[in-house]
Amino acid sequence: MSSNAPTASIKERCAQKKYDAVVIGSGPNGISAAIVLVQKGMSVLLVEGQRTQGGGCRSDELTLPGFTHDICSSIYPLGMGSPFFRTLPLEEHGLSWINPEGTYAHPFDGGQAVVVGRSVEASAKTMGLDALAYEKLVGALNINWDTLCESLLQPQKMLLHPLSMVNFGVRALMSAKLFAQTTFKGPLARGAFAGVAAHSTLPLTAATSAAFGLVLGVTSHPVGWPMPKGGAQKLSDALASYFTASGGEILLGAPVSSLDQLPPSKLVLADVTPWQLVSIAGSRLPGGYKKQLENYKYGPAVFKIDYALDAPIPWQAPGVDRAATVHLGGTIEEIDQSESGVWRGQHSERPYVLLAQHSLFDPTRAPEGKHTLWAYCHVPNGSTQDMSAPIENQIERFAPGFKKTIIAKSSISARGMEKHNANYIGGDINGGALIPSQLFTRPVFRLIPYSTPVEGLYLCSASTPPGGGVHGMGGYYAANAAFRNWRA
Ligand SMILES: Cc1cc2nc3c(=O)[nH]c(=O)nc-3n(C[C@H](O)[C@H](O)[C@H](O)COP(=O)(O)OP(=O)(O)OC[C@H]3O[C@@H](n4cnc5c(N)ncnc54)[C@H](O)[C@@H]3O)c2cc1C
Repeated sequence: MSSNAPTASIKERCAQKKYDAVVIGSGPNGISAAIVLVQKGMSVLLVEGQRTQGGGCRSDELTLPGFTHDICSSIYPLGMGSPFFRTLPLEEHGLSWINPEGTYAHPFDGGQAVVVGRSVEASAKTMGLDALAYEKLVGALNINWDTLCESLLQPQKMLLHPLSMVNFGVRALMSAKLFAQTTFKGPLARGAFAGVAAHSTLPLTAATSAAFGLVLGVTSHPVGWPMPKGGAQKLSDALASYFTASGGEILLGAPVSSLDQLPPSKLVLADVTPWQLVSIAGSRLPGGYKKQLENYKYGPAVFKIDYALDAPIPWQAPGVDRAATVHLGGTIEEIDQSESGVWRGQHSERPYVLLAQHSLFDPTRAPEGKHTLWAYCHVPNGSTQDMSAPIENQIERFAPGFKKTIIAKSSISARGMEKHNANYIGGDINGGALIPSQLFTRPVFRLIPYSTPVEGLYLCSASTPPGGGVHGMGGYYAANAAFRNWRA
């Protein structure tokens, strides 16, 4: 990030002004924290190390002119469903959601595919002998999205909604593999559930890995798996536009290596992960707390690749082109093997691949007749391995002829991810491993997990509850806690 550093200091660039609050990092959580504080009447400066705002929610022409690719995140069930984002007039600031009827598809060898969409019944029909079991499961979860969302996105509130959480929670504590094996009989529904649960990067045999399959899976029906028209950057730009229109200030290309670089303020909220906080706050952190942050665990990483194509992906199975998101990897056994291998430091030759085909639903992403493809697979933390060939082979396996449609590509290794966004330590995109000890109490066990022992200093990133994903709720809760404490 040092190459981005301008010669003038951050304080000089702010004309030596003082602020009520400074937020470090403009990811979805940082900008959300900044918005909450500006809404409360505070003067707020948002300082971003990169030259563009948005953190894990940005787009660029990574391959060829006219092709818009999402650099990191791309599909936003929790973004469109976010209780905080929903309070903001983002449409007035340029955001427009595209919500395909199909949420995700999961093709299998032999030309069959599970295609899940907003309709429970139509989704169930693609699951063969588990059609009824799927309908029963969704019915049993009795999804009231607002209640579920409030509980999921603020884990401390689970206790306020005991009934919906009993339905959900008992299942969520299981491993994805056990849950799939006890709920479904056939390979289609089991494989499709594994494809959703594997978003967590946990081994499918790990306790609580079912939770991720259930949370993401259930969003299919009440919310959908939407994308911003024109790319992820449009969501970040809308948030930034609302923030500045409300009086906030943004400073780009300003990496913070020490709190001493910041202009004076009552509050500092850091959209960074624990190890970065240790480096930035340095000696101000008491030894015990610092040690806890240093012991924080980061999880597996991603290898990411984007393609410009001169035709849609030629899927063998009918219906896969109805969903923007596609999970590749075949059966639950195969996905389990590739995902658990990553935890043992292995790179899979047949990786589980997350893929999005935006341009089928959003023609603004590519020139007429051309298409974009966004894909990644999990790799061990810190990996520098090029996974282009295994990813391409997996796509070709379910879409023969795919390789011939490629006109350009751009890839980034796990190590490269960290250079692109300092929060992706070793390429971990979740702000820390989603192991049970870091699920509800991240980054350390504290009554207010966002607070630090340093007065006025707060963490507000995906390393705080409710964790990774583009929803802004970590920033929202951190800013509310910081404001309450400051006023008390
Ligand atoms: C390949 C990939 C695919 C993903 N897919 C999805 C998806 O489809 N849907 C979804 O919901 N989520 C997805 N995610 C995860 C999502 O992007 C993150 O969980 C989310 O962005 C976390 O938000 P955040 O605000 O906590 O941090 P970030 O978005 O990481 O933002 C942190 C910001 O802080 C800045 N920063 C860090 N250190 C400093 C410093 N010292 N000084 C100044 N600035 C600093 C960084 O430059 C960055 O802008 C994906 C991530 C990746 C990488």
